[in-house]
Amino acid sequence: MNRIRSTNKINDRRPITQTLLRDCVTLWTLWWIAYGLITLLYQESSPRSIQTPPRVAALRLAAVGDVMMHQDVQRAADQAPSGFAALWLDVVPLFTRADLAFANLETPVAPRTGRKNRAFVFNAPADLPAALRQTGLSIISTANNHAFDQGPAGVRETLERLRAEKLLPVGSGLTRAEAESAIIAEHNGIKVAFLAFTDLLNANRNQRPNEPWVRVLDIDSATEAVSAARRLADAVVVSVHWGHEYSHAPTIRQREAAQRLVAAGCDLILGHHPHVLQPVEWVEAGNRQGLVAYSLGNFISNQDRSYHATSPIATGDSRDGVALIVTFTKAEGANSGGTATLERVDYEPLWTENNWRAWKAGKAKRRDIHVMRINAALAKSQPVAALAENLGKENSAQTALAAGARANAALNSSPNPWRILRQRQERIASILGKSVAAQ
Ligand SMILES: [Zn+2]
Repeated sequence: MNRIRSTNKINDRRPITQTLLRDCVTLWTLWWIAYGLITLLYQESSPRSIQTPPRVAALRLAAVGDVMMHQDVQRAADQAPSGFAALWLDVVPLFTRADLAFANLETPVAPRTGRKNRAFVFNAPADLPAALRQTGLSIISTANNHAFDQGPAGVRETLERLRAEKLLPVGSGLTRAEAESAIIAEHNGIKVAFLAFTDLLNANRNQRPNEPWVRVLDIDSATEAVSAARRLADAVVVSVHWGHEYSHAPTIRQREAAQRLVAAGCDLILGHHPHVLQPVEWVEAGNRQGLVAYSLGNFISNQDRSYHATSPIATGDSRDGVALIVTFTKAEGANSGGTATLERVDYEPLWTENNWRAWKAGKAKRRDIHVMRINAALAKSQPVAALAENLGKENSAQTALAAGARANAALNSSPNPWRILRQRQERIASILGKSVAAQ
C-alpha cells in the first residue's frame, strides 16, 4: 500500500512538474512578447518627440524717448551724490531686465570743443556716456535736430565717447556711409537691425560724404534701407526724430512715413521729438503690420518745471514718459531674414520729478530732477491708495463717512504724491491708446 501510495505520489507529482515547466515557458514567452512590444512602442514613440514644438528664442527691447541735457538737468547731476546715474536710478531695472535698451540722445557730448551747454544749443559733459551705459542703455540714436549743435567736430567727439563706453550710436557717423549703416544687435540668436533718421536739423552741416554726417529722413532712401536691413536681420527697428513739438497728435507726414516704413519691412518705429507722448498704434501696410510709437516723450528734461498738481493736468505733459517694452521671438534654428515676431508689447509709465518750485522758494538745498517709475511709486503708497479706493465701500453710513473723511484728508493734503501719480498714470494710458498694456 505504501509502495502503491508512494507510486501514486510519484505519479501525482509528474503532472505538477510539467505544469510548472509549462507555466515557466509561458511566462518566459509572455515576458519576451511584452519586452518586444515595449521596445516597439518606444521605437515608434521616439520619432514623435521630434515633433514637439520647436524651442523659441526671445529678445526683449526697452525704449525711452529724449535724453534732454538742459542746464538744470546738468546742475542736478552735479549736485547729486552719484552724478547723472542718480537722475534715473529708479529706471535701471527696466533697462537691465531687457536685452537691449534704446534712448534718443538729444545732445552732443563734445567737451573738447570748449563750448558750454546753453539754451537751445546743447553740449553734455564727458561723464554722461558712462552713466548711460551703467543704466543699462545700449542703442543710442544720435540722429536729431541737436546733433550738429557743436558742429561736425561735435558729431565726431560724441561718437568717439559713446563707442568708448561700448554704446551703439545709430543715425550719425564719421562719414555718410557710416551714418547710413544699420546697426545689427544680436541676442539669443535673434538679430535686430536698427536704423535712425531725423526729419529736422537745427543746423544742417552735412557737406561732404567723407566727413561727419547725420542721417536726414528721406522716405525713398529710408524704405530702401529698411528693405536692405530686413535681408540681414530677423527684425527691423527704425528710430525717427519727427513731428510737432508739444502736440499729442501725429502729423500726416508722420503717419504717411510710418505706412511706407512698415510696408518696406519695418517691425517697430520708435518716434521722438515732440517732448510729449503720442499714441502707440499697430499700422497695417503692404500686407504686413508694424508697431509705431509716434512719440515716446521725454526721458529726462527740465521742461514743465513749474508744473503743480493744482494746475490743469495737461501742463505737466513734458514730464510724462514711457518705457516701451517689446519682445521679439523666433523659432530656434530658423533662418535670418525677417523671421522674428513682435510678440508682446508692454509699457511702464514714467514721470520726471522736478523740485524747481521748492528750490526757487529757497526750500530746497539742491536742484533735484529725476525719473521715477509711476507704478512702483504707487505700489509704495498702497495704504493711502487703499484708503481712497475704499471710499464709500464701507458697510454703515457712519463708517463710510469716517472713511470718506480720512480719504479726503489724505487726497487733499498738499502735495499729495499719490493723487498726482494716479492722474499721470491715467493720462499716459489715455494718450498711448489701447494698442499697449501697462505692465
Ligand atoms: Zn528734437
